[in-house]
Amino acid sequence: MIPDFSRRRERLFRELKDRKLPNLLVTCPHNVTYLTGFTGEDGYLFANKDKVTILSDARYEEQLLQECPLDPVFIRDATITMIDATAKWLATQKLQNVCVESQTITLAQWEKLRGQIENIRLESCGGVIERLRERKDASEIEAIERAVSIAERSFVSVRAMLTGDMSEKTVADQLEYSIRKLGGTGSAFKSIVGVGSRAALPHGRPSAKRMDDDAFVLIDWGAKEDLYLSDMTRVIITGKPTSKLQKVYQTVLSAQEAAIRAIRPGILMSEVDAIARGIIEKAGFGKRFTHSLGHSFGLQIHESVRLAKGQERPLEADMVVTVEPGIYIPGILGVRIEDDVLVTKSGNRVLTSLPKQWDEIQR
Ligand code: ZN
Ligand code: ZN
Repeated sequence: MIPDFSRRRERLFRELKDRKLPNLLVTCPHNVTYLTGFTGEDGYLFANKDKVTILSDARYEEQLLQECPLDPVFIRDATITMIDATAKWLATQKLQNVCVESQTITLAQWEKLRGQIENIRLESCGGVIERLRERKDASEIEAIERAVSIAERSFVSVRAMLTGDMSEKTVADQLEYSIRKLGGTGSAFKSIVGVGSRAALPHGRPSAKRMDDDAFVLIDWGAKEDLYLSDMTRVIITGKPTSKLQKVYQTVLSAQEAAIRAIRPGILMSEVDAIARGIIEKAGFGKRFTHSLGHSFGLQIHESVRLAKGQERPLEADMVVTVEPGIYIPGILGVRIEDDVLVTKSGNRVLTSLPKQWDEIQR
């Protein structure tokens, strides 16, 4: 399915109007890609009322023609930097204010712009396009599903060849290789492979620890296919589990399943987090669930929706979020289960499908 960039831009123009913003200088590369399909590194976009102009340099002229042939393009002089060229171009546009994306522009770039366009007022406007990106369109959902499919098939193939003498690093490398072999661009992020107590480090780097050094392994991985990502976590029991491990696992699983069941348009993001947290607290592990329940993703692995305490916004149809409760007991064990969930008009659809019941995760 071909993305409908003009529809995305229509939404941006409407959003600018609603927020009473005259224009927006888009410097975040993911936002430029979202609005135009252009994937080059050096490219800004200037949206003015109902027109956009892409600002880039000669290295990308050909790519721009291929990826977004209909857009007006300003190609900068190779002897000056992108921000200088942008300032120069903006100065010719008869503007009073320029809104810039505060999350991506650096202080140095801001100073440069301000120094070169003295009679234009700079305004800081963060999160406009990030907000639009929260609700995925059909082509994005399809792309995420492809990234999920590659991640799941790579996991199945690595699980099938898992042996006791493989190290965490070997497993992570095999996942990466398998994702690429299946047509993915690569891992969506650095895979986490944690054996036993190492699984209690939520973001530990894969080490030389071997699969048979403990009774279980936690794997948090994702695939990038073309531009979109996926994000999952599974635990595999590789040895003789303790009853504590089984109890923790069952608690995390019931918390995760209850939270997924509750996902529908209108429920507050904080409420979904509270449902999972409540179950974990009731089982006596409240202090061991040390992060929020989930996050949205798409072009980036952490986008602006968070299933977390204090997030008093409702979920909306077409948002895609992870649901990933965890319990971590330092030095002993860590369990997290993570699936990707699409909010639909009537409830939700879980995009991931790898088995996760206790009897299904035994090696
Ligand atoms: Zn993850
Ligand atoms: Zn995640």
